[in-house]
Amino acid sequence: MKGTVLYGPGDIRFEDRETPKIIEPTDAILRLAATCVCGSDLWPYRGLQPIDGPTPMGHEYCGFVEEVGTAVKSIKPGQFVVGSFATSDNSCPHCQYGYQSSCIHREFMLRAQAPFLRVPQADGTLVPTPGGPPSDDLVPNLLACSDVLGTGWFAADAASVKPGGTVVVVGDGAVGLLGVLSAKQMGAARIIAMSRHDARQKLAREFGATDIVAERGDEAVARIKDMTKGIGADSVLECVGTQESMMQAIGAASPGGYVGYVGVPHGVEFKGEQLFYRHVHLHGGPAPVRRFLPKLIDLILNGRINPGKVFDLTLPLDQVAEGYRAMDERRAIKTLLRP
Ligand SMILES: [Zn+2]
Repeated sequence: MKGTVLYGPGDIRFEDRETPKIIEPTDAILRLAATCVCGSDLWPYRGLQPIDGPTPMGHEYCGFVEEVGTAVKSIKPGQFVVGSFATSDNSCPHCQYGYQSSCIHREFMLRAQAPFLRVPQADGTLVPTPGGPPSDDLVPNLLACSDVLGTGWFAADAASVKPGGTVVVVGDGAVGLLGVLSAKQMGAARIIAMSRHDARQKLAREFGATDIVAERGDEAVARIKDMTKGIGADSVLECVGTQESMMQAIGAASPGGYVGYVGVPHGVEFKGEQLFYRHVHLHGGPAPVRRFLPKLIDLILNGRINPGKVFDLTLPLDQVAEGYRAMDERRAIKTLLRP
C-alpha cells in the first residue's frame, strides 16, 4: 500500500509502505473509510516541531475492521469503528477515572493517513457504530469524533460548561469551532467565538456562537470584560496552544472560572504569581476522546450534530500533500482524505 510520510518542512510524500499486519494479539487492522489532516500535523509540517527523520503521519481514522488478533474479544471483522488518536485498554485505573489518553497502555497513533491501519488495544480503543455500518454520508461526522470533536468536547468539559453559562472559545480552527458546538450541546447561553475569518465566523455561528470577537491579546480580553459587565466568562476553551492564546484565555475567565486547554502548548510559560492572583481553574491535556466516543456517536447517528461540516476540503488520499498545503495556507479549515 501507499501511505503518508513527512520528510521535512513542507515535504509530504505519499509513498510505498508496508501494509500493516497484526503484531500483538490485542491489535486490529482497519480498512479506513476516511482520514484527515490535523491542525497539530501542521506544527512539524511548518518546521516548528522537529522530526527524527521521515515520519509516517495521521492519527484520525474510522473504518471497517478487516482482521483482529487472537486476544481481541469485542471487536469483530466487518464492524465499522471509530477510535481515538490515543490508544487505551479502557480498563486500567486511569481509564476507569475517565482519562483514557493517560492509559498505562497508551500509544499515540501514527500512520493513519493511509488505506490500512493497525490499532493496538483494539477492544479498549475502538467503538463500533451500533446497528451496523453507517451510511456513507455520515462518515465525515464520525471521523470528526476521532480527534477534533472529541478534543473540542473535552475543552468544554474541562472548562466546566454549564447550562446558562457564558463561554469564550479562543481559536477558530476545527477544534475551536467544535468547541463551540460542544458548548452549545452542554447548554451554554452565550458563546463568544474569537475569529477574524469570515468563513470560520459563519460556521461558528452555525454551531451556536452568539457573539464574535475579532480582537486579540489584551484588546480581546478587554472586549470580553466589556461584554460581560466586567466579570469575565464562566468557561474559556483554549484551542490554539500559543503564549498569546493561553494568556488571552486565562485573562478572559472570571475569578473562579474555568479554562479548558487543548491546544498543544508550544513555548507556553506561566508565571506562578500571575496565576495565583487570577483565581482560575486550569484543566487540559490530550483529550480522553475514548470517554466521549459512545455519546458523540449517538448524537451523530440521531442527527443532533453535524461536526463533519468542519471538513471544507475533500481529496483523494493520494493528494494528501495538497491537503496539507491548503490548511497551511488557511485555504481550508480541515482536509478530509478518502482512500
Ligand atoms: Zn487504561
